[in-house]
Amino acid sequence: MQVFRYIFRADLRRLILLLTIGCVLVTFGNSYQAIYNVQRKLLIDNTLEANQRYAAKVAESAEMLLTSAQDSVAFSAELLAGNFHFSGKPEEEIYRLVEQSEVFNSAIIVNNEAEVVATYPEGILQKGFVLPENTRQSYYERKPLITNPFHSVSGNTLISISHPIWGEHGHYLGYISGTIYLNKNGSLSRLMRDHFFTDQTYLYVVDQLGELLFHVDPNRIGENVSQLPLIKQALGSAEGSQETINSLGIEMVAGYASVPSANWGVVVQRPKDKVMKSLNDQMLNVFWASLPIALLTFIVIWVLAYLISKPLRQLARSAANVNDVDMQRQIVSVRSWYFEASQLKIAVLNAIGLLNDKIHKLDVDSHTDPLTQLHNRRGMQRLLDDFEAKHLQFSVLALDIDHFKLVNDCYGHDTGDLVIQELAKTMQNFIEDSDMVCRVGGEEFLIFLPNTSGESAVSIAESLCEHVANTVMPKVKRITVSIGVGCVENDIDMADIDMAIKQADTALYDAKNAGRNRVKSMLNSQGLKL
Ligand code: GH3
Ligand code: MG
Ligand code: MG
Repeated sequence: MQVFRYIFRADLRRLILLLTIGCVLVTFGNSYQAIYNVQRKLLIDNTLEANQRYAAKVAESAEMLLTSAQDSVAFSAELLAGNFHFSGKPEEEIYRLVEQSEVFNSAIIVNNEAEVVATYPEGILQKGFVLPENTRQSYYERKPLITNPFHSVSGNTLISISHPIWGEHGHYLGYISGTIYLNKNGSLSRLMRDHFFTDQTYLYVVDQLGELLFHVDPNRIGENVSQLPLIKQALGSAEGSQETINSLGIEMVAGYASVPSANWGVVVQRPKDKVMKSLNDQMLNVFWASLPIALLTFIVIWVLAYLISKPLRQLARSAANVNDVDMQRQIVSVRSWYFEASQLKIAVLNAIGLLNDKIHKLDVDSHTDPLTQLHNRRGMQRLLDDFEAKHLQFSVLALDIDHFKLVNDCYGHDTGDLVIQELAKTMQNFIEDSDMVCRVGGEEFLIFLPNTSGESAVSIAESLCEHVANTVMPKVKRITVSIGVGCVENDIDMADIDMAIKQADTALYDAKNAGRNRVKSMLNSQGLKL
């Protein structure tokens, strides 16, 4: 709700802020997303490659170990070929095989009737012991062989590397076989452990049937994992990498390589979420590193939004207070520092100027008589209010054109208007600047003479009366006027003013009655001295 109110009452600054901060957030978000995607791909690709190389290296080491083991057994088989039946020779040879190579845990020599001839260490099998059918793989195949893992009578899981022993004439004498335990005491296990990673990366080795030969968890050795898609790849191709899912359903980033001589597969893998965790840590670092710049950007945007909107906000506030007398000054003081604001400021100032002119003109018009441009009754009232406020003493002349009806009748109404205009000018020219002529009726005028005594006013009126009578008017040539004089000499108020105008009107009436073209005052009409 608050958010809606905020948006609907939005001013320019908030809009700029919302817009730019929105843009910045979208841009930042987009960049983060792009960086995240690129880094993610890079990290997974790097991990895939590293794991593949690592698997290849381990496979190569295993291959070397097996080849060397096969060479050792082959060498022993060759040595035994000539003296197989010499007493003590087989025992001597398998002793040397086990103790010198440091690859084998034990060794056995079997003759061509599948009987045990010699063992090392002694006693693991009885001399003369006939191998049961299910352990006669080497015996039957009669070729160099690396067996699948099997459980020995003594409970170890092991593989054996055997080589046939051929007599001088190519007849089969039996075979010699070295065994390697797959538990922690075996050379293969030692080799794998040497390569064991600590950063959540681990490796395992499977034989050609998909059974585990080595695993970080020794309990899993012997387990068949051939159903995993990766195992087929690892056993089928030289080396490679892929994202996969392990037997526990965990996503893995794995590399693999094969051990050709035994057709084994080596798999090195790392849980994908561990790979991603380092990416998340990286992204968090990127976030913290970019935070100061982001904050700085926000502050700069805020300041710019403030500066851009400031002149428009000031103009808008000033324009909203049209009645404020100070408004024009406020608008002038607005610092419009860019094009649109300065144009707007000029436009507002022009509009206010025009408005003021219009108001002034309307004010003047409403206080001015359109025919003569003299004050009308409203203008006169403002003047009198001013006199009252200033306690200004004054005299007033009430003036009326004599027999004006005749002018209209004889020369027409237009000529009558011209005469009225001409008389207005004549009076304006005659009086002082401080005096004020008002047209208060058709051809009736009031002339106010500030700070003028009744006596002086009578004298001015008489001069004016004479001046008008001697002035040439359009078409009618001559007109005369009658004037009544009134005055206020005390500390005045509006009642005194009204009284003075009334006095002048009464005196004018007297002047008319006395024959026109003359001046009368209350002094004359009441026979009193001024
Ligand atoms: P008096 O000497 O008694 O003043 O005689 P008068 O004919 O002037 O009589 P009055 O003052 O009563 O008449 C005024 C006349 O002025 C009436 C009217 O026809 C004429 N008049 C009033 N206003 C105007 C005007 O604006 N223009 C013209 N042309 N005539 C006007
Ligand atoms: Mg009149
Ligand atoms: Mg008249």
